[in-house]
Amino acid sequence: MLNICKNCGSNQIRVTDSREKRDHIYRRRDCIKCKAKFSTREISEQEYKRIKKIEADFIEQVRNFTKKLDADAQQRFFDKIIS
Ligand SMILES: [Zn+2]
Repeated sequence: MLNICKNCGSNQIRVTDSREKRDHIYRRRDCIKCKAKFSTREISEQEYKRIKKIEADFIEQVRNFTKKLDADAQQRFFDKIIS
C-alpha cells in the first residue's frame, strides 16, 4: 500500500517530492502523523507486467532446475538460498 505509513499505519501521507525518471516516477513521501519518510516508485502497467513475466520465468527455471536434483541436493539448494 503506497498511502499507508509503514511506521505507524496512518494514511495521512504527503508527497513531498516527485521526479520523473527514465522508466518510473519516484515519489518522496512523508507521514504527517509520525514524520516517517519513505519513498515509492511508480511504474507503468506495461513495465510492471514485463517485470512480473521475468520473475515468473525465473521461478519456472529454478523449478525445472531443482526437479532434476535428487532429494538431498534439493535440500542443500534450498538451505543455501534461504540462509
Ligand atoms: Zn507514520
